[in-house]
Amino acid sequence: MDDAGFLSKYKSELTPPVTPEEPAKTPVAKPGTTLYLTFDDGPSATTSELLDILDKYDVKATFFMIGPNMNRYPSQVKRIVEMGSGLGLHGMTHRKEKFYASASAALAEMNGDNAILTKITGKGTTLIRPPYGSKPYFTKTFRDKVLGQGYHLWDWNVDSDDWKYKEDSATIYTTVMNQVHKLQHSRTNPVILMHDQKATLKVLPRLLESLKKEGYTFEIITKDVEPLNFWRDKR
Ligand SMILES: [Zn+2]
Repeated sequence: MDDAGFLSKYKSELTPPVTPEEPAKTPVAKPGTTLYLTFDDGPSATTSELLDILDKYDVKATFFMIGPNMNRYPSQVKRIVEMGSGLGLHGMTHRKEKFYASASAALAEMNGDNAILTKITGKGTTLIRPPYGSKPYFTKTFRDKVLGQGYHLWDWNVDSDDWKYKEDSATIYTTVMNQVHKLQHSRTNPVILMHDQKATLKVLPRLLESLKKEGYTFEIITKDVEPLNFWRDKR
């Protein structure tokens, strides 16, 4: 038998055994490369424009919504769900003296908010963000009561201050990017606080372009993401 014949006859034996491929693993994102955009206080008269921008840039965000606003703009809430955005609760009154009157009052606001979300979309959420953030008022008494019911507490680590700067897009842009860059040193995933308001629409495209260029993957917050809040309460 010549070499060629030998090769063809014993081809299978001569081929090195194939190492079985490693089972496909879900890619684990490098720490600090996932970014969570969050919008509070909606829905609003301009939510559809906001969603158009997110759509255009193919990014997702999480919405912490107020009950009466959902009742006012139910079609926007439905679109938020259809787009696969994240859903969160921001209470009913957005008034310090009412929401923080007692732990029961806070729980009742979140439950009421959740009931409206469920009525409109058929599904609720366990993600909450108390009005004005959880510090200093959302103390352990409040957290035991509300998180004890299965809710997860979310604040932020990047504050756009968009409610304050309104149309001053340049300042909002710098405010956000400076904080994002600081987080890069500690490889921390940014959780950016913005508001579902008209003025924010102006700065959003520029922000999204820059953040995408920096390589962030935009994800929504779900109950499976470890909560980020000012109390470091991981419940
Ligand atoms: Zn708010």
